[in-house]
Amino acid sequence: MPALTESNAQKRPADVMADVMEKPPPRSSSTPITPSINPYNAPKTKSAVITSSKTQNAVVFTPELLRVYYDRLFPYEMMYDWLSYGVTKDFFCRREWSFTIQPTPEDEIYIRYQSFKDLPEFKSAVIKRQPNKIDIGAVFTHQPKDHNNLSKEVFHTEERELVFDIDLTDYDGVRTCCSGANICNKCWKYMNMAIKVMDEGLKTDFGFNNMVWFYSGRRGVHCWVCDESARTLSNDARAAVATYFELPLENEEKSLDLTSNLHPMLARSLSVLEPMFLSDIVGDNGMGILTNQEQWVKLLKTLPEEARKAGIAAEMDKEWSKRDISPEEKWKMLKGRIEKETKKEGVKKQRKFKGDENERLEMWPIETVFRHTYPRLDINVSKMQNHLLKSPFCVHPKTGRVCIPMDVKKIDSFDPFNVPTLPQIVSELESYAKENGEAKNVPDWQKTSLKESMQFFLKTFLNPMKNEQRKMRMEEKAKEEAFTGDF
Ligand SMILES: [Zn+2]
Repeated sequence: MPALTESNAQKRPADVMADVMEKPPPRSSSTPITPSINPYNAPKTKSAVITSSKTQNAVVFTPELLRVYYDRLFPYEMMYDWLSYGVTKDFFCRREWSFTIQPTPEDEIYIRYQSFKDLPEFKSAVIKRQPNKIDIGAVFTHQPKDHNNLSKEVFHTEERELVFDIDLTDYDGVRTCCSGANICNKCWKYMNMAIKVMDEGLKTDFGFNNMVWFYSGRRGVHCWVCDESARTLSNDARAAVATYFELPLENEEKSLDLTSNLHPMLARSLSVLEPMFLSDIVGDNGMGILTNQEQWVKLLKTLPEEARKAGIAAEMDKEWSKRDISPEEKWKMLKGRIEKETKKEGVKKQRKFKGDENERLEMWPIETVFRHTYPRLDINVSKMQNHLLKSPFCVHPKTGRVCIPMDVKKIDSFDPFNVPTLPQIVSELESYAKENGEAKNVPDWQKTSLKESMQFFLKTFLNPMKNEQRKMRMEEKAKEEAFTGDF
């Protein structure tokens, strides 16, 4: 039972509101908590209509549309099923939820440490508060809503999915098309690259099995690793997993210090990323880093000093300026030239590279591929059990797009601009009703373009995970019965 301290037990309702803050926390930070407005006054007026930069002046998010979404489309049952992990008693109620609500257009209030005893309580809280954003936190030792009455020794995190957050803003150093919150189909390719590398790594190198990727609704993706072995990882172990995937890409001056004896994970990643570097980065359909002289000169300047002394940069620049060569061909030429230099074959004017210098030049093409394609993780999100992450199936208030699951097998055809929007799915509901009547026996999500996403989520993630849990429970039970002789 929660240990009530005398002072906490005396708290007035106003003090219990101490988990409210006016602005959502910055990314990658633990949340400071300050008292603010009482969020339990049901919001009457909410944010003005927000427009997305892509669909200019289009209404993408209104309180009325959001109400329909929470009344009829948000998958409460699936979320409850997922986050209960087959444990029917005393588990879901210990999960922390956070709501960002907007009682007036000027106010944004962030409420932490919400918890709900069961599915009906969860559903009615969401419908009552109409959060602009829902975040999911850890499972604690006690119900988070009681945390004010509990000491830190008693109230702490117990488990949490291992999560990864990848955001296009972290690619601003290499993006040439957009910056900040803006995205386009060219830079979205970075997300495909990141997902392919991370998904394979988490499965092959760590043996995780129950994983699901979500579009974050605007400019990134989230991965939820839900195996029990992942959920129970300590903060140190989480940091170790996240660091395993990390390359120091944020500092453009800093060498990645790759050696020709490449780590197997990096070697595997390279085999995925180099073809994508050629198809999605070097040319005009991508970042165009080898399309015109201004761009290729920039790239050639990153060659190690010794290579430039050997005249490789000047030689390539001259060659590429002379005739029309495709960006892919330019890359092959440059790589071939470096290979000759480092292997000292067929180079008229041989230079003596020694040790590190030779290796640095040899590794430059690989380092360049990684610099332009390798995942850039916000690892602080992954490191702490206590870090919150936006709930899947939320609607992003700036774009109106639903945070839908992504099929890794079909990741190349995922288009963030085709993700269902709030106005779209609400109008699909209306059209369905006009054509087919209300059809109460058909779940509302099946009447909209969310159907494919929800079915994918059920078929490839939730149902297989539930089957695995069922099997494990049966095995445990059989073991127990064998042990007690209770056949
Ligand atoms: Zn872009």
